[in-house]
Amino acid sequence: MPRSTQKTATPSRSGMTAAEPAEIQRLVEDLDGMLSRLRLGAIREQLDGLLEEAARRQLNLREALAWLCAAEVASKEQRRLSMALTIAHFPFVRTLEGFEFEAQPSIDPGKIRDLGTCRWVANGDNVVLLGPPGVGKTHLEVALGREAVARGYTAQFTTAMELIGALVKAQQQGTLEMRLAQYAKPKLLIIDELGYLPLEPAAGHLFFQLISRRYEQGSVLISSNRPVDEWDEVFGDQVVTAAILDRLLHHSHVVTIRGDSYRLREKRRSGLFRPQAGGSSSAGIGGVPPPIPAEEA
Ligand code: ADP
Ligand code: MG
Repeated sequence: MPRSTQKTATPSRSGMTAAEPAEIQRLVEDLDGMLSRLRLGAIREQLDGLLEEAARRQLNLREALAWLCAAEVASKEQRRLSMALTIAHFPFVRTLEGFEFEAQPSIDPGKIRDLGTCRWVANGDNVVLLGPPGVGKTHLEVALGREAVARGYTAQFTTAMELIGALVKAQQQGTLEMRLAQYAKPKLLIIDELGYLPLEPAAGHLFFQLISRRYEQGSVLISSNRPVDEWDEVFGDQVVTAAILDRLLHHSHVVTIRGDSYRLREKRRSGLFRPQAGGSSSAGIGGVPPPIPAEEA
C-alpha cells in the first residue's frame, strides 16, 4: 500500500478517522485489549451477550452504548459493595427488612427506618443502641451498617473488647497512633457489646482518644447492655467517662430497647421456658427475665 493512503487506526483528536474496513477490522481485533486498558472488564467479559441483546432489542448506537455502560457500572458497583462488606467485617448478614418490629414494640419503626436512610452517617452523627441481651442490637448494627455501605460509605464492625484489646496492644508496641488512625478512617465505626465484660484500666483513656479522634468526623454506632449512666463502671473512671459521653452524645440518636430476648422468645414458644409473669412472650411487661444463656454466635 502506498504510504500516502496508509491511515492509522488510532482515532484523531476530532474523532474517528474515516476508517476503512481493514482498519475497523484491526480495531475490532484490538477491542479486547482496549476494553482491558480502559478497565471495562464487565463489557469485555459479557461483550457477545450484550451485543446480541442490544441487536435483539434493535437499540441504536447511543442506546447500545448506554446499555453497555450500565452493565459496567452495575458490575463495578457490585464489586465495590462486596469488597466494602468484606472490609466491614460484619459477623453475620442481617437486614432492616429482616427485623420484626412487632417482636420488639419498644422500638419505633419510623425512627429505625429514618436511621436506615443514613443521613446521620452523612452528618457524622452517632447512634447509641441500649438494651438487654438478645433484643436485636447487633442485628440493627449490622443492618444499619449494610445500609451505610450500600450508600457508598465505608464501615467497620468491631466489638468493644476487640477494639480496646487492639488499642492496648498498640500502645504497648508503640503503634497507638497508627491504630487510632486506622479506627478513625471508616466513615462509620460500629462498636458492639460495650459493657458485657469488664475492661482493662487503660481502656477508658484509650477509648476517649478514639472517640475524640472521630468526633464530628465520622459516625460511631455503639451498642451496650448497660445504660449510659453506668458506663463509668464499665470504664472505671468517672472523669474519662464523662468526657467520652460528652463527645459521643453531642450529635447522637439514642435508641433504648426494652423487652425480651428474641432468642428466648423463640425458645419460650417451644416450651423450654415458662411464660413470664403477667403475660406470654410479649415484650417488656416487667416480669423477671428468665436465666439468660450464654450469647449465641
Ligand atoms: P443483641 O445484640 O441485642 O444481644 P442480637 O441482635 O444478637 O441481639 O439478636 C439475637 C438474634 O435474634 C439474632 O440472630 C437476631 O437476628 C435475632 N433478632 C433479634 N431481634 C429480632 C427481631 N426483632 N426481628 C428479627 N430477628 C431478631
Ligand atoms: Mg449483640
